[in-house]
Amino acid sequence: MRLSRYFLPVLKENPADAQIASHRLMLRAGMIRQASAGIYSWLPLGFKVLRKIENIVHEEQIRAGHIPMLMPTLQSAELWRESGRYDDYGEEMLRVTDRHGREMLYGPTNEELITDIFRAHVTSYRELPLTLYHIQWKFRDEIRPRFGVMRGREFLMKDGYNFDIDRDAAIHAYNRHMVSYLRTYERMGLRAIPMRADSGPIGGDDTHEFLVLADTGESEVFYDSAILDLSMDGRRVDYENHAEIAGIVREWTTPYARTDETHDPALFGKIPETRRRTSPAIEVGQIFYFGTKYSEPMGALVVNERGERVPVHMGSHGIGVSRLVGAIIEASHDDRGIIWPEGVTPFHVGIVNLRQGDGSCDAACERLHAALCEAGLEPLYDDREERAGAKFATMDLIGLPWRITVGPRGLQKGMVELTCRRSGESEEMKPEEAVERVKDIYAPHREAGLIEPMAGRSFHTWL
Ligand code: ATP
Ligand code: MG
Repeated sequence: MRLSRYFLPVLKENPADAQIASHRLMLRAGMIRQASAGIYSWLPLGFKVLRKIENIVHEEQIRAGHIPMLMPTLQSAELWRESGRYDDYGEEMLRVTDRHGREMLYGPTNEELITDIFRAHVTSYRELPLTLYHIQWKFRDEIRPRFGVMRGREFLMKDGYNFDIDRDAAIHAYNRHMVSYLRTYERMGLRAIPMRADSGPIGGDDTHEFLVLADTGESEVFYDSAILDLSMDGRRVDYENHAEIAGIVREWTTPYARTDETHDPALFGKIPETRRRTSPAIEVGQIFYFGTKYSEPMGALVVNERGERVPVHMGSHGIGVSRLVGAIIEASHDDRGIIWPEGVTPFHVGIVNLRQGDGSCDAACERLHAALCEAGLEPLYDDREERAGAKFATMDLIGLPWRITVGPRGLQKGMVELTCRRSGESEEMKPEEAVERVKDIYAPHREAGLIEPMAGRSFHTWL
């Protein structure tokens, strides 16, 4: 992509109303624009990151055996009356009436709708286990939308629902979600810690939230620092193997880690003092097992092996897809701008031409651009007639993890410069070498199935 032809409306000034880094940087880097309170347009750069995150979520859900689908944003109030949540949900639910006077609502979540689909089509234990999920916009009329996409009113969520014949099977589904979520966040370059949490309006006993430690988080968490040593680290997992999956869950839930709602000071006090930690954190996901809370009142029954009709055991599992864009920035930025982890970066590498219009500089940049595209990577070539300082500032702000700088002096020696955004370190090398290095850097991501060049391909190749 050539920057001169792209749409990247960067802001020079710090937006006055943005209180936290991710909000400020997303506005400044031309990723989003507020449409109204808590509702955003995703400009091209922001949209690319959102789609990358969405793709990782899809891939890891499909890997775990969960089935993608799509439910609408608008739902009928009738279904919510059946579960009893229409009145319970309160002011956060946006209620609308259509021209025929029918009551509708903009879905804040989808337990009712999915249970209705399930009861219409599934009647026997033979059709279980089943986990369906979708990634769809939600609306919650938050009293204080703030921090940009972190607490929006309209936001993108992955929500998945498991249907199982009994508690044991449903707990395996719960465990499978925990493991798939751990893999998902790690692929985004994030450390998200599962913490025992409170179930709130969804209801149920078993629930964990996934939290990213960050000064600007709205949750307060307490944990044993031993949990920071754990990692999924590219581990292959067999989702059919109940014992293996339960083992991983045990490993991650043994060290103390709780949100303030479930915090137990006495238990916390038993951890060696040097390992006791407390921090603000951002909730990026939550999993629930709630048994028959919806299937009973809504009559989602299946025939079991003994021929009895029993309510199906369910759980629901959410990832805050749009919130993750902000959470990743909170966890990875400096005073010059964003630093994207390779797994979610909107472009893999920037090319900065220090002397636009100079025949040899232009030609070298064009060759680099072509070679990187040929390798299946997406470079962003800054081909504007701008000062070097302005070009560097833009690249630093938008946070591409790697930059290749091409200038007349280096080219005389046949050299360009490869710079790492995170460390700031630069190295001189031949242009072909720079291409090879960037290819190598992204090779593990390609192996993980992560690199999805947009050009000429549909977004939804994973389906
Ligand atoms: P919170 O406590 O932050 O209000 P929640 O517990 O009500 O969130 P869930 O119902 O668990 O949210 O939704 C699943 C995920 O959706 C959350 O973990 C979070 O990442 C995301 N999410 C929830 N509310 C918002 C919001 N207003 N804006 C952006 N993302 C959100
Ligand atoms: Mg939650």
